[in-house]
Amino acid sequence: MSEQSAQKHSFQAEVAQLLHLVTHSLYSNPEIFLRELISNASDACDKLRFEGINHPEYYENDPDLHVRISLDKENKTITISDNGIGLSEQEAIDNLGTIAKSGTKDFMSKLTGDQKADAQLIGQFGVGFYSGFIVAEKITVESRRAGLSENEGVRWISGGTGDFEVEQISKASRGTDIILHLREDALEYLEAWKVKQIVNKYSDHISLPIEMQKEVWQEEEAAEGEEAKGGKMVKTDEWEVINSASALWTRSKSEITEEQYIEFYKNLTHNFEAPLTWAHNHVEGNTEYTQLLYIPAKAPSDIFTREAKAGIKLYVKRVFIMDDADNLIPNYLRFVQGVVDSADLPLNVSRELLQESRDVRTIREGNTRRILNLLDGLAKSEDEKDQEKFKQFYSEFGSVIKEGLGEDFSNRERILKLLRYATSSNDDVVTSFADYKARMKEGQKAIYYVTADSLSAAKNSPQLELFKKKGIEVILMSDRVDEWAMNFVQEFDGTPLQNVSKGAVDLGDLQDAEEKKALEAAAEHFKPVVDKLSDTLKDKTKEVRVTTRLVDSPACLVTPEGDLSPQLIRMLKQAGQTVPDSKPILEINPEHPLVKKLEGTQQFDDLANVIFDQAVIAEGGLPEDPAEYVKRINNLLLK
Ligand code: ADP
Repeated sequence: MSEQSAQKHSFQAEVAQLLHLVTHSLYSNPEIFLRELISNASDACDKLRFEGINHPEYYENDPDLHVRISLDKENKTITISDNGIGLSEQEAIDNLGTIAKSGTKDFMSKLTGDQKADAQLIGQFGVGFYSGFIVAEKITVESRRAGLSENEGVRWISGGTGDFEVEQISKASRGTDIILHLREDALEYLEAWKVKQIVNKYSDHISLPIEMQKEVWQEEEAAEGEEAKGGKMVKTDEWEVINSASALWTRSKSEITEEQYIEFYKNLTHNFEAPLTWAHNHVEGNTEYTQLLYIPAKAPSDIFTREAKAGIKLYVKRVFIMDDADNLIPNYLRFVQGVVDSADLPLNVSRELLQESRDVRTIREGNTRRILNLLDGLAKSEDEKDQEKFKQFYSEFGSVIKEGLGEDFSNRERILKLLRYATSSNDDVVTSFADYKARMKEGQKAIYYVTADSLSAAKNSPQLELFKKKGIEVILMSDRVDEWAMNFVQEFDGTPLQNVSKGAVDLGDLQDAEEKKALEAAAEHFKPVVDKLSDTLKDKTKEVRVTTRLVDSPACLVTPEGDLSPQLIRMLKQAGQTVPDSKPILEINPEHPLVKKLEGTQQFDDLANVIFDQAVIAEGGLPEDPAEYVKRINNLLLK
């Protein structure tokens, strides 16, 4: 059979860009290439194990899965071979020529050109296969997919710049050989001791045996009468295992060092940065499983997109079943990465089956509890390092766990305890509901909070004026998710929560009888103005009323109890949703000169509309008709 000639292909633009970065930014830690390629080999063996459940013939006569590393000093190559699932020709073109991951473009746009910062970013993103080009001037991949015949192998060759070549070859053994043609400055990776050292450091916990050809010392024979000549190391036909080859999570905690946990995480997630913390447990009971769950140090860039995936790998009795098993962790903890190994689920479990399984529900609840406990432990810890970790966690993922208030009713109290906010008396996002409660004024019956689009809008909200005057602390909420999440929360630890921009303010005992009387008198006095305002603004407001909550501002908008707030409406509209119409209540400050001016003015219409539009602006919105607003202001200015 005549072999087909090689076909040239161009890398996808992003790959070419990534390759350039890999070779220019990652050279400070070149040895990680080995970890990445071993990790890919191990994934390929996992995939074979999984597909082999339904296709036992894929094993051919080669059932013991392994990774082999061969060094060839003469040709200056290091080869990483596996007998895993392998690649078909099309898969080689697709998987080694494009980046399938979502968020790639987004990732590329974040690159700064600063090598150190970019190396960090690449670390978070994971370069995988392409890291081979840190040490190789050329990479040859020879592979045959399990299930294909011997002459359906593929050879892929690239120098790591614009393009690669692919041709069909014949390959006797199933799986993949990655042959790195080392650059002159990377020849140290031809030394067996060096390779063993790296494997020990990064890949010891890989559950697969990693093997190297055993070398023995061979004396050179000395001729008679001569001194002994010495000798050299020569390779034998025997392969020796150079790693521990047991899945890390199956070992007992006491046998695992911190470094090993961290390396495992980096391997698992292709993340270069150490995780913030982790939990490792073997759970027995109705459902038996092992969980090793990590909280990353940084949020991935796609955490708030629809593509954001759960980062849990599911194994059943150490057989890899699937990535991103989103049934094993609730959506609001989607940043958690790790492994769950179940003793009870069937090996051929599908995603559909996972949804209905009772075992899965139990595992999911167990994972949720474990993560919330882990976070609670950090939050409560006296240890400064833990506190620092909690702070970092919160700044990365605080707004994600808030989603749990609406998603996970059974853990709402636990989630509430983890939340931290800025308040009207402390700009730092450190105050918990419990802290706030401890600082409440005598006679204060509710936890007060305000929601706005930004911290400064919350802080300067007119709704807060009376609270400031009276020295009552108010929690400032400015995350997009706050407004929605707080819909699900009525109280904390027995104390009601009150959104000060919703409904009438009731300060209860904090307001004295005199103030209440003054309000009644003002309401009486302003009744004609209020009636006229209601009429003038009837298309814009649901109601107009006099308030004591304002000190410096003439008016503010209040959301009727039970309605969506203006911020939430804006947010939903931006997200392209149709929102039921809701008109706010306009509250006016009877002490304010502009409001007093409403009595007896010739320009009632202009003034009324301007007061309303200003209230809209004060809480971060825009007047419905900005040009009209400007015209009315100018009318007033000119008179
Ligand atoms: P990742 O592993 O993060 O998906 P890589 O760039 O490391 O990204 O690899 C790209 C793809 O190439 C993998 O998803 C896999 O499909 C394929 N691949 C890489 N190495 C191997 C291998 N040793 N055996 C089979 N397929 C592989």
